Amino acid sequence: MFIEPKIAGKSSGTRAGWIEVICGSMFSGKTEELLRRLNRALIARQKVEIFKPAVDTRYHAYDVVSHNSNSIRSTPVQFSEDIILLAGDCDIVGIDEAQFFDEDLVDICTKLANSGKRVIVAGLDMDFSGKPFGPMPQLLAVAEYVTKVHAICIKCGDIAHYSYRLVADQKTVMLGEKDTYEARCRRCFLKGPKAEQII
Ligand SMILES: [Zn+2]
Repeated sequence: MFIEPKIAGKSSGTRAGWIEVICGSMFSGKTEELLRRLNRALIARQKVEIFKPAVDTRYHAYDVVSHNSNSIRSTPVQFSEDIILLAGDCDIVGIDEAQFFDEDLVDICTKLANSGKRVIVAGLDMDFSGKPFGPMPQLLAVAEYVTKVHAICIKCGDIAHYSYRLVADQKTVMLGEKDTYEARCRRCFLKGPKAEQII
């Protein structure tokens, strides 16, 4: 469980902010963890702004929505530099689905943290082929705090950290949910279509 180093009190002005990254596969609870941290900050009367890439419109254009339908309003943005323009004087910047942003997101998050803001980034660490996804590896390197959350393998019940794609499309970005991807452990991911259902 992530325990905040500090929540209350103005984060800007007197001291630097920091970067937190929440990463993992699909169905690992990344967005739930982002929302948990943001909700706690709201209770502490912190000013929170949330952004997500405009490409991700699976649920609702203005909400960060997790699979348990616990949501906070967010602003969809086209480019990561829009986040700087829109963050204003908030204390905390939340960013969801960070893997879909451009590589500039790393510099943007660094600037925000340097200006005194707490930056919480959630995203897929690997794409469907098991390769590091978009700006995520660089974000993991520059963050003060990294939380890797895991899903449960749909085939064998082990701890899963891969997002296995069930359809034969090779595009890196392909939005979808339960009918398109499943969480798999390393062994079942490597077996591919031959993985047996043993639970
Ligand atoms: Zn498995």
